Amino acid sequence: MRALCWEGVEDLRVETVPDPEIVNPRDVVLEVGLSTTCGSDLHFVDGYLPTMREGDVIGHEFMGTVAETGRKVESVEAGDRVVVPSFVGCGDCGYCLDDLWSLCDNTNPNPELQEPVLGYPTAGIYGYTHAFGGYAGSHAEYVRVPHADTNCFPVPDELSDEQALFASDAWPTGYMGADFCDIEDGDTVAVWGCGGVGLMAQQSAALMGAEQVVGIDRFPERLRLAREEAGSATIDYTAVDSVVDELKSLTGGRGPDACIDAVGMEAHGTGVQHAYDRAKQSMRLQTDRGEALRQAMVACRKGGTLSILGVYGVMDKFPLGVAMNKGLTIRTAQQHGQRYVPQLLDHVAEGEMDPSYLATHEFSLEDAPRGYEMFREKEDGCVRAVFEP
Ligand SMILES: [Zn+2]
Ligand SMILES: [Zn+2]
Repeated sequence: MRALCWEGVEDLRVETVPDPEIVNPRDVVLEVGLSTTCGSDLHFVDGYLPTMREGDVIGHEFMGTVAETGRKVESVEAGDRVVVPSFVGCGDCGYCLDDLWSLCDNTNPNPELQEPVLGYPTAGIYGYTHAFGGYAGSHAEYVRVPHADTNCFPVPDELSDEQALFASDAWPTGYMGADFCDIEDGDTVAVWGCGGVGLMAQQSAALMGAEQVVGIDRFPERLRLAREEAGSATIDYTAVDSVVDELKSLTGGRGPDACIDAVGMEAHGTGVQHAYDRAKQSMRLQTDRGEALRQAMVACRKGGTLSILGVYGVMDKFPLGVAMNKGLTIRTAQQHGQRYVPQLLDHVAEGEMDPSYLATHEFSLEDAPRGYEMFREKEDGCVRAVFEP
């Protein structure tokens, strides 16, 4: 089959690789319908995440049609259209049973690569380094899905492929980030980042009852989507003296009740702190730049919630004293998609939310390297590049 492979830093190529096969009786092989880029892919494309190997098939957000089932698969059969969360859950361990799916104890076959840093391994993820399991990714004609009864969610007929696709990762990540905020009537929620996850977090926060949602970014096209699709107020951080002051003025001086970081370690900023971060990151003295996260901590009201969705490795200059003195609650996780997918598909079916506008640019699989380039450079307002094998 054809697949998009990582062949070194900033080197993605479409190549012919062996077809995936049923390895375990609970596997299915899925014929990929649609697959999409994710900001977290850029971390290893740009060389910030180790344990990629040349020839690895990348991609972790996808939907498709079941092509072949292992003999112990019970809940889906060949021909079923399904969406699959990006983290692989086993469905049986204590973490899966507690709905903490990205912490599954059984789906990362390379725990020794994570334990020195994290203490304990996370779940595995498709197409996302060997430290995260080394599973082949979804930017391919076919992908193997382990523990299919747990990880394949049938898509109702009335939903389009695009509507189902974003229930794989961007939407459940944003939805989880809003869920972490325990939103109450009258709350203001500020979201750093108006990419796919940030937009989903904004819309989800509104759906959960936030009175005011504010999206923060610098790209006019993304800020427009935040206003028009998510109904958010917006702040272009390059056009104001102080994002914190802007947020104060939108909240009567009190500050947002909850702040969601949907930017992560490649945050772009403008000040001295950013220049310092950038220099240190380029020398590999630290791996992360944390401008958005630091700003969110300062902007958040006292006693508020900081919900962290951006992907981080190791960051210095993390002002824990700000959180401590202000009594912030910090909540964070990689997405627990299996917990949310059924209700997200219901929200689409009920007409309450539709994530398909994130698919701003569609490409054939053969043109996927070009898709990544557009996505990375945010060319032509690209929010997500979607690949159809
Ligand atoms: Zn993702
Ligand atoms: Zn598990």
